[in-house]
Amino acid sequence: MIGVLALQGDFEAHREALRRAGVEARDVRSADEILASTGLVIPGGESTTLRLLMEGTGIEEAIRALARRGDPLLGTCAGAILLARDVEGPRAEGFGLLPMTVVRNAYGRQLDSAVVRLTDLSPDVLGAEPLEAVFIRAPRISAVDPDVEVLARRDGDPVLVRKGNVTAATFHPELTKDPRVLSVFLSGRGSV
Ligand code: GLN
Repeated sequence: MIGVLALQGDFEAHREALRRAGVEARDVRSADEILASTGLVIPGGESTTLRLLMEGTGIEEAIRALARRGDPLLGTCAGAILLARDVEGPRAEGFGLLPMTVVRNAYGRQLDSAVVRLTDLSPDVLGAEPLEAVFIRAPRISAVDPDVEVLARRDGDPVLVRKGNVTAATFHPELTKDPRVLSVFLSGRGSV
């Protein structure tokens, strides 16, 4: 049973995308519900708001525990920001579960929201077919440690990355029908 963190943002779309792919999924709103799940999605939304809503709830600790015990964890867009080690623009605290630097709202006004066909993909994991990706006021991954797999890039910047069981996308895979990002997430192995 995969949990979708349902505090704020587009959790409904994630829950439905998982169900369409035949994966059992439910909304989760507490530390206990997170710990009772076998994987977790942190959806897009607004990362500062998400952080505030989590304060004092034990949710951050539950997410860390889930990641440590090796269950798959996916953060998309604002969720990716929360997973990062370093957050810039403005500077903020990430959970540090993925050793990467993200810059919030980095694509500027003109480019802030776009549908892009990604062609720079890791063929072993994603195959050769271009991946349609919806970016909405997306963060930019500006640096990753060498132990982070970069699975897709947009104009040279990583947009889908994974380390062990922790996956992050700066776009919104729940808004397209392509199941490949879900497979990447669900097949993430290892622990942080
Ligand atoms: N710009 C948002 C933030 O900084 C993320 C946008 C999104 O999740 N679609 O949190």
